[in-house]
Amino acid sequence: MDRVRGKVVVVTGAARGQGAAEAAALAREGAHVVAADLAEPRRPLDGVVHRRLDVADGRSWAELAAWLRETYGRVDGLVNNAGITWRARLEEVTPADLARVHAVNLTGPLLGIQHLLPLMPRGASVVNVGSAAALTAHYPVAYTTSKWALRGLSAAASLELGPRGIRVNTVHPGFIETEMTASASPAFRAANLAETPLGRAGTVEDVAPLVVFLVSDESSYITGAEIPVDGGYTAHRGAKSISDALREPGH
Ligand code: NAD
Repeated sequence: MDRVRGKVVVVTGAARGQGAAEAAALAREGAHVVAADLAEPRRPLDGVVHRRLDVADGRSWAELAAWLRETYGRVDGLVNNAGITWRARLEEVTPADLARVHAVNLTGPLLGIQHLLPLMPRGASVVNVGSAAALTAHYPVAYTTSKWALRGLSAAASLELGPRGIRVNTVHPGFIETEMTASASPAFRAANLAETPLGRAGTVEDVAPLVVFLVSDESSYITGAEIPVDGGYTAHRGAKSISDALREPGH
């Protein structure tokens, strides 16, 4: 019940989906959680305060930082979870699509780190939410490039902030049941499950415990790490269909 007791933790994109589950799990473990989102929360969560934030807007971050300074005086954890997708393929995607998706998925985490850093003491932890798309050739170009770039930001930030005792890690969810994946076609779901050794979709409750661990002091010597939460999807690097084919009787 007290793995992150007393820590002040900001979770972006926490009105619903994975962010809401992460906010609730952190609050259950004793954190003061600020759920920051463009949208109103789907339902109020015990021990979680909602603040409006557009992660792509520096002024919005500046307002949140001022409120955090006034209210708590410090920030011990930042979970850069807010993200959007855009499923245009290589030949259709436009520079405007790329800019819009990168503004949320890449510039958002950068602005979050920059604005909240002055409030972070030694021992603070940043968790960036990447994607299995950041480890593969996932077809939606704007989304995939934004998540690959986020890996670079995470690596650079973990190096830069190490001497200040601030850790930066990345979690890479695979196919997780949320409104984001509900908006994809049934073929997308089926193809993902076919590539997933554990044979099921992930849930928000599969991801939240890892985020709690990375915010907590239990992970105090882990920084610059990238951890998939994907049922084994990215580990086999395309070998699953071959393995499955040869598992049939007679091979
Ligand atoms: P979701 O669409 O259910 O929730 C995303 C939340 O982010 C929403 O509450 C939305 O209002 C908020 N948001 C969007 N733009 C914002 C902005 N500019 N400022 C503040 N908040 C904003 O999605 P989810 O599945 O819970 O995704 C959470 C994270 O996990 C995202 O970064 C996503 O890319 C990543 N991810 C999801 C999956 C999956 O299968 N669901 C897989 C890999 C990675």
